[in-house]
Amino acid sequence: MTEKLFWQDAYVREFDAKVVALDGNRLVLDRTAFNPRGGGLVSDLGTINGQSLTEVQKEGDEVFHVFQSLQTFNVGMKVHCVLDWDRRYRIMRMHTTAHILSSVVHRETGALITGNQISPDESRVDFDLESFDKEKMSSYIDQVNSVVERGVEVSSYFMKRDEALKMPGLVKLANAAPPSVETLRIVQIGDVDTQADGGVHVRNTREIGKVVGLRTENKGKKNRRLYFGVLEPIA
Ligand SMILES: [Zn+2]
Repeated sequence: MTEKLFWQDAYVREFDAKVVALDGNRLVLDRTAFNPRGGGLVSDLGTINGQSLTEVQKEGDEVFHVFQSLQTFNVGMKVHCVLDWDRRYRIMRMHTTAHILSSVVHRETGALITGNQISPDESRVDFDLESFDKEKMSSYIDQVNSVVERGVEVSSYFMKRDEALKMPGLVKLANAAPPSVETLRIVQIGDVDTQADGGVHVRNTREIGKVVGLRTENKGKKNRRLYFGVLEPIA
């Protein structure tokens, strides 16, 4: 099993690791800070010994680092890894934003999230909702920005599945997780949102900067898609 450095500390930008397996053009390391594609998040990118990754994938507990080709790696080899930090930090800011937005829309409308796509430049969340006009969208975005400005701490911890099921707010989420998972990783944005989640987040909502609503789309009778972006924080 790959040690997931991105769960211990989402701010690791460079690290050393050892090659434990080769699989075609994919590399498995003993530890990694590269967050794989999944949960709506696009893959991290970067380099391993100077060679650029094309994607990072997850299969079960294993993380696969994908290259165009694999000529210069051997099992047991020590490697130096560098993340594309600009990309990754934007993904973190977008992802925490998506959680805040989901909790705001859920609180206001009761709508559930039916899908999401977190990318560095533009992200979206789909809601099971009948109506979603421009005015409503800007009021949701305003509420998200007030959480951003409040500087709410973001924390993560692991919980036994049975314990998580006893927490009233988490029951729905715990039930949504695959039955085989015994330990759940919980991400908590202060008093705003608590979810079972495997992705990377900022430490404090202030790091997000400013959230802008970009547009909405109707994806079927009861499915509304909201696109958003983040602007750089004012120093
Ligand atoms: Zn998430």
